[in-house]
Amino acid sequence: MNIILFGPPGAGKGTQAKNLEKKLNNFQISTGDMLRDEIKKESEIGKKIISNMNEGKFVDDEIVNNLMKNVVFDPQKKNKLIFDGYPRTLQQAKNLDSLLNDTGQKIDFIFFLNVNKDTIVQRIEKRKTIEKRSDDDLNTILKRYDTYMFTTKPVLDYYSSKSNFHEIDGGQKIAEITNKINNILGV
Ligand code: AMP
Repeated sequence: MNIILFGPPGAGKGTQAKNLEKKLNNFQISTGDMLRDEIKKESEIGKKIISNMNEGKFVDDEIVNNLMKNVVFDPQKKNKLIFDGYPRTLQQAKNLDSLLNDTGQKIDFIFFLNVNKDTIVQRIEKRKTIEKRSDDDLNTILKRYDTYMFTTKPVLDYYSSKSNFHEIDGGQKIAEITNKINNILGV
């Protein structure tokens, strides 16, 4: 079963992806984590993306799509993908469709965790004290939210008419969101 978790930064995608990873024995595919790893390794990709990441801007589609190719083509992960933070642009959504098509896979469920801006700011400020991410300061959070609203809205339009699209109120307690997702998945 392949799942997309979609929503603004701070919507709880990572938390729900980790729950699903355990429950389904699937793999959380977080492009944010993959990109932070590249920065930590000081790889060529890492050097290219560090300023965009720190400023709350998106990393180029080409770089993210290339990272995703290895993941979707990995036979161990076939039909066990939980996308967390990808796709974020229409180009990425179309790229994902084509990668899945090339490997005989599809998206089974899309969950849109919808959260308002005030809740996001509160959550990310709290996360900053725990995870100490350099892109979690208030200005960058607001920038990330604006980027999300501007670039990611077309992705929402792309998916929202599909029958496997489910909108969930991401302002609820974590356990309530988990229950709703599990009910829809029938697990
Ligand atoms: P996240 O951990 O998902 O909140 O992502 C942190 C940052 O990584 C984002 O603000 C972007 O700079 C970058 N990033 C993560 N996923 C993507 C993506 N799918 N496309 C472009 N940039 C991304």
